[in-house]
Amino acid sequence: MSLPPQEPEHIAISKSKGIKIDWKDRHHSEYGLAYLRDECPCATCTGAHGTAPQKSSYGANGGGSGGKELFPMYKATLKMLSVEAVGGYAIRIDWSDGHNTGIYSFDHLRRICPCAECGAQREP
Ligand SMILES: [Zn+2]
Ligand SMILES: [Zn+2]
Repeated sequence: MSLPPQEPEHIAISKSKGIKIDWKDRHHSEYGLAYLRDECPCATCTGAHGTAPQKSSYGANGGGSGGKELFPMYKATLKMLSVEAVGGYAIRIDWSDGHNTGIYSFDHLRRICPCAECGAQREP
């Protein structure tokens, strides 16, 4: 029932910016660092907070005085120290915040592609 895994044709890695992938089906994906870090598939990142999503922002209608501070410094300093291939089906990213247990399979990367087209497909 599941689709065959997508394979990358070419991967461009910038440790300070993110990863770009050209897929064999000619799709193109660009992942920013913060996005990749947020989408880390490891057990720690996916299990620690239950199922509560952090990134969907409801347009709350309360007027805004209050703790709505983001932490731009965190994202400004985030970068990849190294990226290594894992078994031909995934990459492992060593983050500057010390996290390095996330194995990003190409299947996962394709699924989290942030482009508008894929985003529309993920809509329920
Ligand atoms: Zn993780
Ligand atoms: Zn896409």
